[in-house]
Amino acid sequence: MAEKIDTRLGQVNAGLSMYDPNSDLSRFNRTEPGQPFRLSHDFARVMDTARTVFTLTDGAWDGTLKPLVDLWGFGTRQPDGRMPEPAAIADALAKTGFQHLMFENNHLKKTKPGITLDLGSIAKGYGVDAIAGILSKSGIHDFLVEIGGELYGSGMNRHKKTWSVGITDPLNIGSDAGLYKIVHLENRAIATSGDYRNYFEIQGKIYSHIIDPKTGFPVDNQVISASVIADTCTFADALATALVVMDPDDSLSLVGSLKNVECLIIQKTSDGFTEFASRGFHTFVQR
Ligand code: AMP
Ligand code: MG
Repeated sequence: MAEKIDTRLGQVNAGLSMYDPNSDLSRFNRTEPGQPFRLSHDFARVMDTARTVFTLTDGAWDGTLKPLVDLWGFGTRQPDGRMPEPAAIADALAKTGFQHLMFENNHLKKTKPGITLDLGSIAKGYGVDAIAGILSKSGIHDFLVEIGGELYGSGMNRHKKTWSVGITDPLNIGSDAGLYKIVHLENRAIATSGDYRNYFEIQGKIYSHIIDPKTGFPVDNQVISASVIADTCTFADALATALVVMDPDDSLSLVGSLKNVECLIIQKTSDGFTEFASRGFHTFVQR
């Protein structure tokens, strides 16, 4: 089984890795506008969910922010400790926009020069689903898959109980990191995004690694953690990233309109924090 898992992970990476210059993703990024790029099975499936989440979140999730992610010093380029110039932010912003991608007969093409994909906010979730998929196909039904904090729980654990997983307390991180909530996952995925998982500092100010596609700046709305429970980890991963960008009230109405999707959002306030939970979230919480 271990070998099958490694092989499958290798396939996913060969498709979607941002760090491998020969991955499908990197090769797509180098195509010219109008040039159709044939999508592999994995690439096509991720892009399908990507498109759904881009539309649902009105662009709060946008997989084309690579120029901004690089400019702010995340992704494949390292930070140099300075704020980007406003003109550079405007330039990078002009090279983004998921709407400048066209899907046709299993091919993808850009309709504007400079458009590139950064699937860092969805690929881990896809990897989780891919591994869950081969385990199920191999007749294994009791398992928990985790990649970088994104999870899928199937069946039961060895104590014949549903899998329970913790959501990190974003207000109390560091060496004595605690858990904010414990949730049960029965044939469900959970993904969490937040400031505390990845950030950088310029002259004493903390900047999130999540960027608001509308402004080109790191988000600054005090949403410090957003968890999404959904049927697939691909969807949960992308949506969790979007909920860090969105206004929490808008997030609750969106999630409330979706079937089998729940969320928990934590926003910092001047004297503590506010919690926004979707209507059904409590049914997953362990008391
Ligand atoms: P995650 O940890 O899943 O929330 O993904 C965060 C990563 O997604 C960042 O490090 C960027 O590479 C990328 N990213 C940043 N902002 C956005 C956004 N608004 N939509 C989609 N991806 C983003
Ligand atoms: Mg994500």
